[in-house]
Amino acid sequence: MSKILQNFLDFIWPQFCLGCKTEGALCCGFCLNDILLQENNKISWPDKDKLYFEACYVCCDYHNKLLQKIIKNYKYSYLENMADLLVDILEKQSRRLSLPKNTIISNVPLHKRKRKIRGFDQTEILAKKLAQRLNLKYSPMLVRKRHTKAQARLSKEQRQKNISNAFEINKKDSLKNSKSPKKILLLDDVTTTGSTLNQASKALKEAGYKNIFCLAIAKN
Ligand SMILES: [Zn+2]
Repeated sequence: MSKILQNFLDFIWPQFCLGCKTEGALCCGFCLNDILLQENNKISWPDKDKLYFEACYVCCDYHNKLLQKIIKNYKYSYLENMADLLVDILEKQSRRLSLPKNTIISNVPLHKRKRKIRGFDQTEILAKKLAQRLNLKYSPMLVRKRHTKAQARLSKEQRQKNISNAFEINKKDSLKNSKSPKKILLLDDVTTTGSTLNQASKALKEAGYKNIFCLAIAKN
């Protein structure tokens, strides 16, 4: 967005910090610093039978109220500034992973019907922006082949069943026939049991990809 347009929008529609309500930005620097990046960021699910990814990293604790507000505001009323805030967080955490140059950034996609209703795919936007910041390639490697229920209200068993084999390789992905990338960084916004990331990784693994790493903004 151009600076002039942004200044104009600030004038007619001033922004207030979601944390402390100060005028100026959707999240001020002070409040942003309150959203701490987790140090020990590799998470494990000991009770999972089979994991299709090498590791899963998270950035923050979802119990942080401000982070919840940012994610919800971004997801349900697409505010571009929110996307940039979330990409700030993702970028900081990804830089700690020392990703090799031929890493591909991808995302857990929405079903096309849901995408049409929402008007955008929230993790696709984050993944594209993150790839740009890190100077890496983005590729839409997966499609969600069936419409799945929202995972939030389901039990752990129901989640696993709901999401089982929900993804397949995107036939339009230009990297499909290219040499396997060294690493894939698969992005999702919030993870709870890891089932969605695991099933998405499964589709990649079955297509012959290796070294799949997952990154979520937060673990619930
Ligand atoms: Zn603030």
